[in-house]
Amino acid sequence: MHIHTDPAVIAGYLEDASGFIHGWAKRIAIPENDSDIGGFLESASRQHEPVTVAGGRTGVAAGCIPQGGTILSLERLATLGPVAGNDHNHWIEVQPAVRLEELKSVARSSGLMYAPDPTERTGTLGGNVATNASGGQCFKYGTTREHVLGLEAVLATGEKLCLERACHTLADDLLRYRLASGRTLECRRPQLPLLRVDKNAAGYYSRPGMDPLDLLIGMDGTLAVITRIKLRLLPAPPGVFSLFVFFPDLSQALDCAKLLRPLGRAASPNPGLTPASLEFMDSNSLRLLRPAFPLIPGHAQALLMAEQEFTQENEEALLASWQDFLAAAGVPDNMIWLAQAPSDRKRARDFRHALPEAVNTLVRQSKLPKVGTDLAVPPEAFAGMFRVYVQSLQASSLEHLIFGHIGECHLHVNVLPRNEAELLQAKALYLDFAREAVRLGGTVSAEHGIGKLKHDFLKIMVGEDGLREMARVKRCFDPSLILNRGNIFPEEYLEETR
Ligand SMILES: Cc1cc2nc3c(=O)[nH]c(=O)nc-3n(C[C@H](O)[C@H](O)[C@H](O)COP(=O)(O)OP(=O)(O)OC[C@H]3O[C@@H](n4cnc5c(N)ncnc54)[C@H](O)[C@@H]3O)c2cc1C
Repeated sequence: MHIHTDPAVIAGYLEDASGFIHGWAKRIAIPENDSDIGGFLESASRQHEPVTVAGGRTGVAAGCIPQGGTILSLERLATLGPVAGNDHNHWIEVQPAVRLEELKSVARSSGLMYAPDPTERTGTLGGNVATNASGGQCFKYGTTREHVLGLEAVLATGEKLCLERACHTLADDLLRYRLASGRTLECRRPQLPLLRVDKNAAGYYSRPGMDPLDLLIGMDGTLAVITRIKLRLLPAPPGVFSLFVFFPDLSQALDCAKLLRPLGRAASPNPGLTPASLEFMDSNSLRLLRPAFPLIPGHAQALLMAEQEFTQENEEALLASWQDFLAAAGVPDNMIWLAQAPSDRKRARDFRHALPEAVNTLVRQSKLPKVGTDLAVPPEAFAGMFRVYVQSLQASSLEHLIFGHIGECHLHVNVLPRNEAELLQAKALYLDFAREAVRLGGTVSAEHGIGKLKHDFLKIMVGEDGLREMARVKRCFDPSLILNRGNIFPEEYLEETR
């Protein structure tokens, strides 16, 4: 274990992508291998020394930013196992600091794919699992959770926990974990409001009949340090084309998305359309992109982007199906871009990534933070939620854009305040949106997590009782309350459970 106490070295670990600037720590501990971690955590627990786990530090909710104590950086635990499996099932075991881009590339070189696709590829698999990260292809393949087959983790007590999916039992709502020490850890499943969305990164996972493994996914480092992950790999599709469909009318785009939405998780070998992703940009997003992409049709008011996987046998049929579908939806050919060749696909990726980059440039120029939402609602509530966004934003005269994962009813509203008063107004609006999303059965964070920045939002979603439930679960795993303090719930809920 390497220990650094030089403030200059520590300073480099006090930042992630959240812009949160209030981190501090006494030291950094960097284990050389995972067997270093148990003794370190056991000693930290005895001394009640807070420990904050750092992965790739690309998080946007300040989860890895310490509030004192020691940073545990897993950066040296970055080994990938060989791709394993048989004709039908493939998997790979990775240490937590393996970067997403490396895993994707190793899978690709074996003719396979790791399906989860968060935009930021320098994030680590440990971070991806701890935040249950997701991306565009979540529409077809689900979030990170659905690709985790097993985990090894070390508890704050220093005890090791090995979990395989479907190997631990949940009886009478009791989560039961057999630890390597021989002890059995038992903990009642947190009683939380049931959500009607598939995609959720807010607080602990809890469903009747859940696999106990799932509690560890999306726990934001508050329950254990993940030291090894077994991940499912899938056969890589032989080909993918991307469609960019521009609409002169917003409601036409929303109607089209509504028709496509049920096709996302169609597990059956549907001979028709099976989009892997379904994304949206509003007219303000398109306006921001026009200077760099002047071919965007001048009268376009909205854009839907879909990706379609194909084989050599069905490529023509799928192209024809999309053409028929879009013609029936009233979209003329000249409002459709098709990216099929590798060079076009690269341009398509650049187009998608240009939007967050353009937003970040504006944020840097204005020197005021953007206010970006991460709410998702059930499909039947989507139209209502969208109406609330549009009406409230129009009434506010705030500069804004709306884009994101329309397939999963998960759009990001980005407000770009021009002064402090607008910043306050945007934050108030975000709270209103969060209340509405919860009222409609949705989540306050579908993708980015709660971390240290969104406690108020989680409280709206699960209430004080829900926060107490989560704090109770944390105490079962981490009796000295040392791991990732400040993440998910405010400190006072931990103190209450002492
Ligand atoms: C430009 C950009 C685009 C992004 N796009 C997406 C996106 O599309 N989808 C998405 O979901 N997110 C996205 N993110 C957010 C971020 O990339 C993800 O949250 C990612 O999962 C964080 O991984 P990390 O390794 O950087 O974790 P960190 O930021 O280091 O940590 C995140 C949390 O996980 C905990 N943690 C990390 N490793 C472990 C471990 N081994 N054991 C226990 N806890 C651990 C940390 O303590 C912290 O609480 C984006 C970020 C950026 C900057």
